[in-house]
Amino acid sequence: MSAGGIVVVGGGQAASVATRTLRRRGYDGTVTIVGDEPELPYQRPPLSKEYLTDEDASGLWLLPQEWADANDVVLRTGTAATRIDRSTGGVQLADGSSIAADAVLVATGGRPRQVSGARGARIHTLRTKADADRLRLGIRPGSRVVIVGAGFIGAEVSSSARQLGAEVTVLEASPVPLQRVLGERLGTVCAAIQRDAGVDLRLGVAVDSIRETAHEVIVETSTGPVVGDVAVVAVGIIPNQEIGEASGLVVGNGIHVDEYCRTSVPNVYAAGDVANHYHPLFDMRMRVEHFDNASKQAAAAANNMLGRPTVFADPHWFWSDQFGLNLQCVGHPSPDQEMVVRGDLDGRDFTAFFLDDGRVRAAFTVGRPEDIAIARELVSSAMSVPADALADDEYDLFDALEGADA
Ligand SMILES: Cc1cc2nc3c(=O)[nH]c(=O)nc-3n(C[C@H](O)[C@H](O)[C@H](O)COP(=O)(O)OP(=O)(O)OC[C@H]3O[C@@H](n4cnc5c(N)ncnc54)[C@H](O)[C@@H]3O)c2cc1C
Repeated sequence: MSAGGIVVVGGGQAASVATRTLRRRGYDGTVTIVGDEPELPYQRPPLSKEYLTDEDASGLWLLPQEWADANDVVLRTGTAATRIDRSTGGVQLADGSSIAADAVLVATGGRPRQVSGARGARIHTLRTKADADRLRLGIRPGSRVVIVGAGFIGAEVSSSARQLGAEVTVLEASPVPLQRVLGERLGTVCAAIQRDAGVDLRLGVAVDSIRETAHEVIVETSTGPVVGDVAVVAVGIIPNQEIGEASGLVVGNGIHVDEYCRTSVPNVYAAGDVANHYHPLFDMRMRVEHFDNASKQAAAAANNMLGRPTVFADPHWFWSDQFGLNLQCVGHPSPDQEMVVRGDLDGRDFTAFFLDDGRVRAAFTVGRPEDIAIARELVSSAMSVPADALADDEYDLFDALEGADA
């Protein structure tokens, strides 16, 4: 590549891994990270977990300044990029300046959805370190925390708030949490986990509006008002795709990329939460919001930017820590698929496999991470495994890996 170098737009997980990969692979051109947050790149998973409860920031940092200096990486924090000039390849910044680039990686992540009109010091979302710092101030022993949304982030905040001694009410529009992803039976397990921890989980409750008074928040719902000291809205994210729109990239629920992380414009790539990618294994487009995806897709993008063709076909893995339990999922589960349970649902010691036409497409576990390591291989190879074998705790899953008969 010529003198323009590589510009990485976004200063989060994907940006950090891509940058490390570029240097690890020996790229010796200029690398500039343009991130709009004031902090150096940090990871988000602890924000709803140990960082919310303990305020220990030591494990957050992804690219310390010393590493950037030692690896000749320019870190432009507190700076938003607005547009990629398709003719010159240069990246324009909000401050009016621009940076020359031979190739650009867009890794701008997403921002939380908000309940329309909800604004105020007692009303929170959680995406950034600053969000976590602000939210922590509102969660005290005995304080009333109202969480909108019982997805993974909502459940993790709920868990941390209980740990901090708060009274927690969770409002969820669906009949069970995570129904669209995991289906009713597993959603029921997730609901029980919260309720057993003393959370007032209200299902089938639609939130109309949230407002605050001098001392309270009032959440208006389909079943009446819910009053608290703080409200946390955890109803998903919107991809930060505006730079793609401004630059003429194909967008639609994220920036569209192919299996090589290439956007519709040459030498412009995207990875992480913002990337709506074609996935060869599942033969569909998808945008996922997982730490591991952001890391591995970014590494693949970096390889491709350096002319090392790398198909990104990772089966997608994520975890959640809540209420003292470790939940993990691999693959692309859907309630339409056949679900086979291995272990004890009520005892919260199980792995549920999702089969499509007899082939393992996904697995979700509570407490059995070792199963997920094997399931990852089964999903990657779309392995056919008899349902009764998967359900049998005596059956060695390694046999399935070898394609052996049950
Ligand atoms: C509270 C929380 C807990 C989570 N827990 C888990 C977990 O347990 N397990 C799991 O698998 N995943 C978890 N995740 C998801 C995981 O953190 C994300 O998938 C991951 O951070 C995505 O990385 P990214 O680089 O795509 O985006 P981000 O990490 O969001 O980074 C994008 C960065 O780009 C910046 N940016 C946006 N627009 C611009 C612009 N125009 N110019 C410059 N910079 C810009 C953003 O401000 C941000 O700093 C969690 C997320 C959150 C918020």
